[in-house]
Amino acid sequence: MIEFPNRLHLARLPTPITRLQRFPLTGSATQIWIKRDELTGTEVSGNKIRKLEFSLAEAQEQGCDTVITCGGLQSNHCRSTAILCTRLGLQVHLVLRGEKPEQPEGNLLMDYLSGAEITYVSQHDWHGHEELVKDLQQDYATAGSKAFYIPIGASDEIGLWGYIAACEELKQDFQSLDMTPDYIVTATGSGGTQGGLIVGIRVFEIPTKVLAFNVCDDAAYFDQKIRRDVTLWQQRYKTDFDVKKLAITTVEGYMGAGYGTASEAVFASIALLARTDGLFLDPVYTGKAFHGMVSEIQKGDDGALPGARNVLFIHTGGLFGVFPQQQNFLFK
Ligand SMILES: *Cc1c(COP(=O)(O)O)cnc(C)c1O
Repeated sequence: MIEFPNRLHLARLPTPITRLQRFPLTGSATQIWIKRDELTGTEVSGNKIRKLEFSLAEAQEQGCDTVITCGGLQSNHCRSTAILCTRLGLQVHLVLRGEKPEQPEGNLLMDYLSGAEITYVSQHDWHGHEELVKDLQQDYATAGSKAFYIPIGASDEIGLWGYIAACEELKQDFQSLDMTPDYIVTATGSGGTQGGLIVGIRVFEIPTKVLAFNVCDDAAYFDQKIRRDVTLWQQRYKTDFDVKKLAITTVEGYMGAGYGTASEAVFASIALLARTDGLFLDPVYTGKAFHGMVSEIQKGDDGALPGARNVLFIHTGGLFGVFPQQQNFLFK
């Protein structure tokens, strides 16, 4: 059995699983189940808290009093990190991609409310953000502090544990439901959820496949990123795991115009699910992945989920990202 490193218990676990009752899947008998990871908390909702349980345990173990992390202006990861750090009595410094808006909204509003220190870096200068983080760490050291760096999305060999551990929970879920899905589907953005699930189903011997829909970059990027993170994980924790055996499947074609920009069809799918089943997706991650999953299921055996009788969609959260994009919902 695998040995977990130290972990803080911050998330509300286990999260429930709901079966969609009314969402229309024309011409398909597939059952869609939703793992409700948007219910890991209220303010700290979503997938990042599972990873941060391990990243922040490591920060404390290293004796750090400050955490630095990065992301977009509407980063769910940065919001989760900011709130959790405040709860743990750690200072938090966010390095955000974009210009400072006149009035913060959505996730950014929550960052300010939770007292985060924020440095803005323009899209143009973003390639240098890791250098900036090193300078900040130096500044904190000079001032007598110790700053721990968590990379984007907490997707590294430490954060990977989050969704490896989630697979232990899923194994129990599937036993209680007496159902193992043919596929587990997730949105992928920094790769840590996808990577953790892929490793986790092997560690806990769950006979299923993991499919991810990318909301940025492409399949080749996630292949490389996950192989690198899993290799580092394997080296750091001396786990007995064959990286060559990783089955990384990223379904392209549903990113739309780019990260954070969703098509009308995605907004329509979000509105439809809210109306049929009372579940709320977001336009940056879960809406795109859910729309992609449904589109592929409806292609039947020509789609990316051939033979799907039961599919588990991981609802990774993101609700606060809906409001800054509310003008994109069309009402007749
Ligand atoms: C970050 C995020 C994802 C993607 O998870 P990664 O582990 O970064 O790939 C999916 N959904 C939501 C709502 C997120 O905030």
